[in-house]
Amino acid sequence: MPALWPLARLASCRECPRQCRVDRYKSPSGFCGTGAGFSVGAVCRHRGEEPVFGENGVCNVFFTQCNLQCRYCQNFQISRTPRPEIAYELTLQEMAEKIRRILAEGVRHVGFVSPSHVFPQMEALMEELGGDQPAPLFVMNTNGYDLAGQIRRLEGRMQVYLPDLKYMDPVVADRFSGCPEYPEVAQAALREMFRQKGPELVLDSQGVISSGLIIRHLVLPGQVENSRAVLRFIACELSPEVTVSLMSQYAPVPDVADDPELGRRLTPAEYEEVLEELDRLGMENGWVQALESQDHYCPDFARGHPFEK
Ligand code: SF4
Repeated sequence: MPALWPLARLASCRECPRQCRVDRYKSPSGFCGTGAGFSVGAVCRHRGEEPVFGENGVCNVFFTQCNLQCRYCQNFQISRTPRPEIAYELTLQEMAEKIRRILAEGVRHVGFVSPSHVFPQMEALMEELGGDQPAPLFVMNTNGYDLAGQIRRLEGRMQVYLPDLKYMDPVVADRFSGCPEYPEVAQAALREMFRQKGPELVLDSQGVISSGLIIRHLVLPGQVENSRAVLRFIACELSPEVTVSLMSQYAPVPDVADDPELGRRLTPAEYEEVLEELDRLGMENGWVQALESQDHYCPDFARGHPFEK
């Protein structure tokens, strides 16, 4: 039986930069609206955007709710607060068993998707699964709005960091995610991830990742300068050798369908400008989505498997 001691921290929650100090056992009344249990929108195998996760893909744990509320979130069915449309409450053991069933199909990686507000739950799962053979490789697939101190706690235990870096412009961060401090907080978190992992990915003989840092950036319509600044931060403040996954898949969700800024897709000219910056900065490691990817990646969590039609 794994120790459940990390969950005690939720009695006065300061798990993420929001620092709400609420008792999540009594009432899910913090910004994220999340209680002290294990709530997921899906646990499923996902062959994602980055080829280094191999043919077998990742066993992704999609936690519900989030400590950011991006207006354009493509996972809106499970990420909205206070109550998501779709949520399944499981025990730690039920979660672990679901994950183990998927790992038994030959999957090596367990991806924690949007775990910033459920850090103790993520750590409890890592502890529960960490002793299994073969040992799973853990992936933190985060929005980047994390405390650097929390990331420090994961040193030596989290094999892959897969953070977003959404914004460098506080005004844009405020307008689209209600979080003007995002750039400062995310930069500190990513610096800590970089300190732990450095610029190089560790790959096995099949080219599958066993350790490293991959930074994702979703290019938003009308926000070329923000995207350029994101790339400049990575290249100049971390390293131009860092692996970047540049994403063009933005598509308006129903909530922003009529929004003058967010209600449209990226244009080829906008994307080209961002690609030119990538080139200018000499960033050669990573992947660049084709613009046509806009048609392929919108999940539906009402289906058994959100990424399969
Ligand atoms: S995890 Fe949720 S309750 Fe805790 S500090 Fe962050 S937003 Fe607030």
